[in-house]
Amino acid sequence: MKQRLLFLGPPGAGKGTQAQRLAASEGLLHLSTGDLLRAEVQAATPLGQEAEAVMARGELVSDALVLAIVRSRLEQHSGGWLLDGFPRNLAQAEALDGLLSSLNQRIERVILLELDDAVLIQRLLGRGRADDNAEVIANRLVVYRQQTAPLVDHYEALGLLSRLDGAGSIEAIEARLAALLVD
Ligand code: AMP
Repeated sequence: MKQRLLFLGPPGAGKGTQAQRLAASEGLLHLSTGDLLRAEVQAATPLGQEAEAVMARGELVSDALVLAIVRSRLEQHSGGWLLDGFPRNLAQAEALDGLLSSLNQRIERVILLELDDAVLIQRLLGRGRADDNAEVIANRLVVYRQQTAPLVDHYEALGLLSRLDGAGSIEAIEARLAALLVD
């Protein structure tokens, strides 16, 4: 199976859940920038203090900050990985390309998890995270459409994109994902 994967899709599509399960079963490093940032906020590090207000509004934290987090993790790791929630815009995608070529690595597949907005909003409201209230959710979806969605065309043009229907149960999505990744 492919060992270097990227999960793309709007907030609430199930990236984190699927990435975590796949990483565990395949022995890959699961790198979620959202999880790593939340851990920094929790620990009240300088980085977390810088990110906290931005995250609470549903905006993107600075590319430099996120890239520093990803760089240190990937540099310390030699096996396969699964990136979840990064890159979030074209500048981050370009920075990731530069970082990977310096490590002699490349993205092998990009999985786009797709789901209707109405279902996304319902799922996010049910999750109860600090940034999962109606107003912030709406903003995160706008930020996704404006800044992250252009990555779909970017990775499609590179021939790396596979689309995955994000509707249904965790197990149903997991089975469809496994079928996508057999080759
Ligand atoms: P997530 O858990 O992926 O939904 O991320 C939660 C929040 O963390 C986002 O709304 C952003 O504020 C921030 N964040 C996570 N990943 C990134 C990233 N790659 N670039 C900028 N901000 C990010």
